Amino acid sequence: MSETLQKTNLLGLTREKMEAFFVSIGEKKFRSEQVMKWIHHHRVDDFEQMTNLGKALREKLGQVAEIRAPEVVSEDISDDGTRKWVVRVTSGSCVETVFIPEDGRGTLCVSSQAGCALDCSFCSTGKQGFDSDLTAAEVIGQVWIAACSLNNQPAKIGRSITNVVMMGMGEPLLNFDNVVDAMTLMMDDLGYGISKRRVTLSTSGVVPALNRLAEVTDVSLALSLHAPNNALRDQLVPINKKYPLEVLLPACVDYIQGLPDKSRRITIEYTMIDGVNDRPEHAVELIDLLQSVPCKINLIPFNPFSLSDYRRPSNNTLHRFQRQLQESGYNTTIRKTRGDDIDAACGQLAGAVQDRTRRSARYQQNRVEPDNLIAVRSL
Ligand code: SAH
Ligand code: SF4
Repeated sequence: MSETLQKTNLLGLTREKMEAFFVSIGEKKFRSEQVMKWIHHHRVDDFEQMTNLGKALREKLGQVAEIRAPEVVSEDISDDGTRKWVVRVTSGSCVETVFIPEDGRGTLCVSSQAGCALDCSFCSTGKQGFDSDLTAAEVIGQVWIAACSLNNQPAKIGRSITNVVMMGMGEPLLNFDNVVDAMTLMMDDLGYGISKRRVTLSTSGVVPALNRLAEVTDVSLALSLHAPNNALRDQLVPINKKYPLEVLLPACVDYIQGLPDKSRRITIEYTMIDGVNDRPEHAVELIDLLQSVPCKINLIPFNPFSLSDYRRPSNNTLHRFQRQLQESGYNTTIRKTRGDDIDAACGQLAGAVQDRTRRSARYQQNRVEPDNLIAVRSL
């Protein structure tokens, strides 16, 4: 009986791992540089097209290795130019990747897991339950797919990827090694050459992993805070019960202060939910809470989805909250909602997750009838 050989997928290998791979097949380390350029700069996934490798090496690579991005199930383009790809990962679940073009920059929002185990009350991904961690190839593969697709467009400012945010589906710190490898490739000159300031990991606050992060990377950090006190954060972001604010905030400050560049700031993400966390007294508490945290604040108007009856606050409320923070010296922006006509806005990413937690079935059962939903997408 012949054994089927598991080919090594080179797409997700960092420079170090690629060198180790070439050594392991009896080849010189410098081959890794050639192959990485073919993969990430020229987006070639066929060894036969790698013309600076000899025929024998190309054949050998074809036998033991492959370059395999996740399968693209669909690609949608929003009226505002936002693009969304749905890709299928190994487990069979689908995850989503979103590209947001803006004047002079293009931000790619990348997923780290199929679903999410953390169940934040306002998040569509959380309601899907959890299926699996993405491999490093599946995380960097989203950048590869977007780069392939965007390069096929006529050149226009804002079409290329200048920033990556790990703000798609999943909690990146719960898929630590694969996410770190993929982010390393995003920043490597042999990968996508994006500056460390422009690669951002967003977390809901997995403190032990946060403590390890500084040892392996220096990407920018965003914290999904969403509440100015433990009582409210326990309800919105349940992992807060395990790692409350008094341990979470010092861990974030340690990370940012451990970076050599002292001007770096943590981005505080605060999803504004009508009547829940958007009152003037919440702003007062937030001002106090963040006093010793080097940060800028990004207010995200809640994006409604069908399994939630939270609502987005009025523009007046959003701007009043922003003013309060600004008057206390905080750099505070309101995130523009992009791509909601293709369900690509923050928190709307749901993919198609085979839920191993059975959480999504529970939510579907308790689902409010559409007629009674307070939140509708036209808000
Ligand atoms: N798991 C990570 C990264 C993915 S979520 C994290 O929680 O940080 C990316 C951002 O979108 C987070 O700040 C998250 O809180 C926010 N978000 C989730 N659901 C949202 C919704 N319905 N409306 C607006 N923002 C939402
Ligand atoms: Fe998971 Fe982030 Fe959604 Fe919370 S907000 S459920 S951590 S993806």
